[in-house]
Amino acid sequence: MGKYYQPEIETASREQILALQNERLVKQVQHVWENVPYYRKKMEEKGLTPADVQSVDDLYKLPFLSKDDLREAYPYGLLGKPLSECVRIQSTSGTTGKRVVAFYTQHDIDLWEDCCARAIVAAGGTREDVVHVAYGYGLFTGGPGLNGGSHKVGCLTLPLSSGNTDRQLQFMTDLGSTILCCTPSYAAYLAETIHERGLRDQIKLKAGIFGAEAWSENMRREIEASLGIKAYDIYGLTETSGPGVAYECEAQTGMHINEDHFIAEIIDPETGEVLPEGSKGELVFTAITKQAFPLLRYRTKDICILTREKCPCGRTHVKMSKPMGRSDDMLIVKGVNVFPSQIEQVLLEQGYPANYQIVVDRVNHSDTLEVMVEMAPENFSDSLAKVTAMEKKLVDALKSMLGIYAKVRLVAPKTIARSEGKAVRIIDKRKI
Ligand SMILES: [Zn+2]
Repeated sequence: MGKYYQPEIETASREQILALQNERLVKQVQHVWENVPYYRKKMEEKGLTPADVQSVDDLYKLPFLSKDDLREAYPYGLLGKPLSECVRIQSTSGTTGKRVVAFYTQHDIDLWEDCCARAIVAAGGTREDVVHVAYGYGLFTGGPGLNGGSHKVGCLTLPLSSGNTDRQLQFMTDLGSTILCCTPSYAAYLAETIHERGLRDQIKLKAGIFGAEAWSENMRREIEASLGIKAYDIYGLTETSGPGVAYECEAQTGMHINEDHFIAEIIDPETGEVLPEGSKGELVFTAITKQAFPLLRYRTKDICILTREKCPCGRTHVKMSKPMGRSDDMLIVKGVNVFPSQIEQVLLEQGYPANYQIVVDRVNHSDTLEVMVEMAPENFSDSLAKVTAMEKKLVDALKSMLGIYAKVRLVAPKTIARSEGKAVRIIDKRKI
């Protein structure tokens, strides 16, 4: 197990964690002040010096960092260590703009992998387990993060990466994978394929660690029932090193944040004001141990809630809810905020599989919203009257969830292209 794994910190008292955060924050602000001119300038513009931050209580004084800052400072502007001390980069996919490139010293990689090790242990992992990593490897953090965490726990690690479903299933059955790590949409796809091929009896999976995209409680229950596993959520961003910033325990009621490495705040996304505990707002992270890419008050754009209720697992670290939407993903249709997760919830409640595509367009200066939905094989019908009645029922359910009219188009099972990585759920023609 790595040196930052330190399970005793996961059950430390609030006072102990705060003392550690205070000490590390003061050091980190000094480190950034001395080594990251881009952020030093931001502090100077607010008339701040490191002396103004003596504890977590002073955190609110510091300026935010946003994805725009990362783009502006690309590629080396936020680097906190000389390149000679950096050993790795990871990067975002760059689908929503310029790529984010994050840098790591060996120390940064060690603490990242230890955070991932905590997630695997929380999902019941021990050195007896066979961890099947079907997250992408390469620039994407999912594969390398869980791979490193699995090594630290001492599990047999299968570095399958994403795609090539035949090979995934062959290794899974031949080598007896017990913990599956991948995106939830790929887990659902694998589950579907396992059933189609009659392989369910040859699968030894007991748990899954799924993240890197939004998924609902209903989707969790579907995957759990289909594979006979317990499905755990995991959270992280390339900017904050990768997966493992927060992860679920057996209680499955939110993800414990590794508070010895990250300080979390919830802010009002409009005003930037820090909101009291229990409020819904934008999640902001301050990394207090990362050296090469030491982001202070980084705005994640994820909307969620933090809670400190006592957890039955014994861990004391604060829990974040599953993000309720990203302001990036949030669609504004006819002036109303629409999250894909809301649409997914309605579909699952109405007995449809979570295979859908949202098409937004503008016709005669007015927004239109269309949801293309696959019928499940068991409720598939080609009777026009029956399909029209089913569509009407979904239109009503969507209207009561979203508050606006969405046209529904039901299509035959397996019509919508399956993705082996992140699912493309939204086509916004207004931007094309
Ligand atoms: Zn817990």
